[in-house]
Amino acid sequence: MNEQLITHLPRWLEASRAHAHEGKVAAYIPELAKAPGNALGISIMGKTGETVAAGDTSLMFTMQSISKIFTLMLALVDNGEDGVFAKVGMEPTGDDFNSMLKLELVEPGKPFNPLINAGAIAVTSLIHGSSPAEKSGRVLRYFQDIAGGAPLAINEEVYRSESATAHRNRSLAYFLKDNEVLGEEIDVEDVLSVYFQHCSIEINVEQLSRMALVLAFNGTDPITGREHIPRRYVQIAKTFMLMCGMYNASGEFAIRAGIPAKSGVSGGILAMVPGIYGIGVVGPALGAKGNSTAGVHLLETLSGQLEWSMM
Ligand code: GLU
Repeated sequence: MNEQLITHLPRWLEASRAHAHEGKVAAYIPELAKAPGNALGISIMGKTGETVAAGDTSLMFTMQSISKIFTLMLALVDNGEDGVFAKVGMEPTGDDFNSMLKLELVEPGKPFNPLINAGAIAVTSLIHGSSPAEKSGRVLRYFQDIAGGAPLAINEEVYRSESATAHRNRSLAYFLKDNEVLGEEIDVEDVLSVYFQHCSIEINVEQLSRMALVLAFNGTDPITGREHIPRRYVQIAKTFMLMCGMYNASGEFAIRAGIPAKSGVSGGILAMVPGIYGIGVVGPALGAKGNSTAGVHLLETLSGQLEWSMM
């Protein structure tokens, strides 16, 4: 582990924590509003499992949009590239994550990419299983294996809170149904329940850094040597992370930090230095573009200090 990182991480984290007040905890899912706005935690894991961590590392949070990276890879395993990209595109939108604006622009109704909500809901519909419970169970086990094997669980309060208030996601999903992106045989509410559940998988920064480590090593956990995800699918996921993993601030983050990352509305960020570190961050206060203000500041600081940019 890098000496500079071990020495300075606690100080860098506290300096970044000062940026939490620039953001606000998400409240459109009522249950998320309970998160501590001033919290900031990080875990950075190297290839033998050596970890350096600082701040609020025991805070549990839901994966939200970070889960979309892993459901994409599971859908790729289940359907192959052609099967997935028949339903969802490969381009960033420049619009909000839950926008409807461009849904009519490409092949009718086909969402631009798998990380906006419409695209992620389409991807969720492709996950194999004979019932919503079986699909959610497969997703949970997949995530759990990649996160190192310790049990993960769905936060039922967050799941119910989102399901009860998700008028926009519901309308996106019915729109996809109308455009036959969700086929005749697909029940919209079933797909939504799997989608809300994978968004509600609860995790901490250490487990998130282990998931990121597997991506940093192209799908193989360097600690166990076990291949979890085909290299090609990790390559696809990392490309989307770089292009649109940080919502409409993805370009800015690519310029300032230059590493693949995916954030979620709970304030979590999964990031990696390819071939070196897996990183999990949480800072629930979000800026105008939906990313953790303190978390982004910390990753940009680390990337600047340690020259992490891939560019
Ligand atoms: N479950 C959230 C939603 O669909 C995920 C959004 C996000 O993290 O960007 O609104």
